[in-house]
Amino acid sequence: MRRKLVAGNWKMNGSLASNADLLEGIKAELGRPDCDVAVCVPAPYLAQCQAMLALHGGIALGAQDVSIHESGAYTGEVSASMLLDFGCKYVIVGHSERRIYHAESDDLVAKKTARALDAGLIPIVCVGETLVQRDAGDTDVVVGRQIDAVLASIDIADVGKIVVAYEPVWAIGTGKTATPLMAQEVHAMIRAKLATRAVDAAPVVRILYGGSMKPDNARELMAMPDIDGGLIGGAALKVSDFLAIVRAA
Ligand code: PEP
Repeated sequence: MRRKLVAGNWKMNGSLASNADLLEGIKAELGRPDCDVAVCVPAPYLAQCQAMLALHGGIALGAQDVSIHESGAYTGEVSASMLLDFGCKYVIVGHSERRIYHAESDDLVAKKTARALDAGLIPIVCVGETLVQRDAGDTDVVVGRQIDAVLASIDIADVGKIVVAYEPVWAIGTGKTATPLMAQEVHAMIRAKLATRAVDAAPVVRILYGGSMKPDNARELMAMPDIDGGLIGGAALKVSDFLAIVRAA
């Protein structure tokens, strides 16, 4: 049985004051959830959030990107060991906003995944197709290629340690959500793909759905057999919405 994971992706949002309000609100009402919960925050706020979560074992900390390099002359980059210094457990890699706005290739995302694993972080590997690709019937090809790149770069013994997030690009921040059946189809394809390289690990890998998951669609989506939680953007910035999704999980 896979334990569900609800991870907030704050993206480039927040301030010291608004982060404090958000985390205080979540901590006050979270109780002891029956799923794993994480918040992936902007790098400058890792120290603040680490301190705020220190006494709350129920919420893990994550980052939104990681360098493929360990240290050195890479201006602007943040290394895996720096994320570990601030108590990160998870790191998002290959979010579509990084693939699109920062030209991250499948190969780079695969290298970031490998670097995170080597350092002891759990990568949340984002995959997903654009609307043009879906309309052309290429969803499986595109998502399959993204997964294959990762499988080619990591130790097969590590496959069970990754989290995958299926995030159709056309559903991110748009209010459009994949129907539970549409999402389930792709999640099942991803699990089958993982099984081609790691038959024992594939059933334990958590595959999250991301793309306008909200309190009113979370339960239905997460009821699907291969949807093991959510990567939540906009709704992770509102205490009541985030908590409602955690409860749905
Ligand atoms: C995301 O960016 O990972 C995401 C799922 O965003 P939203 O929930 O806002 O669509």
